[in-house]
Amino acid sequence: MRYIGAHVSASGGVENAPANAAAIGARAFALFTKNQRRWQAKPLTTQNIDRFRAACEAHDYGPDQVLPHDSYLINLGHPDPDALLRSREAFIDEMQRCAQLGLNRLNFHPGSHLRQISETQCLRTIAESINLALDQTQGVMAVIENTAGQGSNLGHRFEQLAEIIHRVEDKSRVGVCLDTCHTFAAGYDLRTEAACQATFAQFDSVVGLAYLQGMHLNGSKSALGSRVDRHHSLDQGELGTEVFRFLMNHPATEGIPMVLETIDADRWAEEIRWLYAQQRD
Ligand SMILES: [Zn+2]
Ligand SMILES: [Zn+2]
Repeated sequence: MRYIGAHVSASGGVENAPANAAAIGARAFALFTKNQRRWQAKPLTTQNIDRFRAACEAHDYGPDQVLPHDSYLINLGHPDPDALLRSREAFIDEMQRCAQLGLNRLNFHPGSHLRQISETQCLRTIAESINLALDQTQGVMAVIENTAGQGSNLGHRFEQLAEIIHRVEDKSRVGVCLDTCHTFAAGYDLRTEAACQATFAQFDSVVGLAYLQGMHLNGSKSALGSRVDRHHSLDQGELGTEVFRFLMNHPATEGIPMVLETIDADRWAEEIRWLYAQQRD
């Protein structure tokens, strides 16, 4: 079973997200469990939680079909101790919100060194942040998203993802979300079936396909290796559509949430239908 969906709106409350996903024929969805551009958030109320859980049940979304995304403000590798503390606290809060909602994953961008500390030091800080969050929460996996490598963002090389995972103590609660646009912009070709095979073989040997716990399905406005993060619709841009056919038939994508973050939300229903139509099995 492949779970395909999109990053849907949770405006008016997290409990609205499942119906927004169901309305476009999604079998998976991503959401923010709080305003992604603010530090402060009201705690989830019992009503939010109960309604969210009931809506997931009504629309038949299990935990493996939901990939919550954390706030854009969080930097788990921040070079400044005070800023790092703030990010760590916010991250733990987000992990707890996921647990309250009965979810089992939290997707996040690893972090940025801001050109103030070395890459190695930043990767160690990120791993330590994950260890602290896993210690203080239960049942939620930290799902590291690979990045395009824009600015000083780490996690664009598979080796960097592997280094973080290597330093995480509880390997059963760490995973990776590969974003097709980010992967391509980071320099891994995905334009042909052979290129996809090679990129996935490289991911498997450096990180391990068992760690693949989610995917973001995006076209790319930016060129191969440009390290610029600009999503496009699936059938537009530099990436081409072969990668999506490849993913819809790869055993590693069974049973994990795969969500669109493509630029035209009006096309999500059509993109989801098209993706399902690419399955050969
Ligand atoms: Zn993404
Ligand atoms: Zn992106």
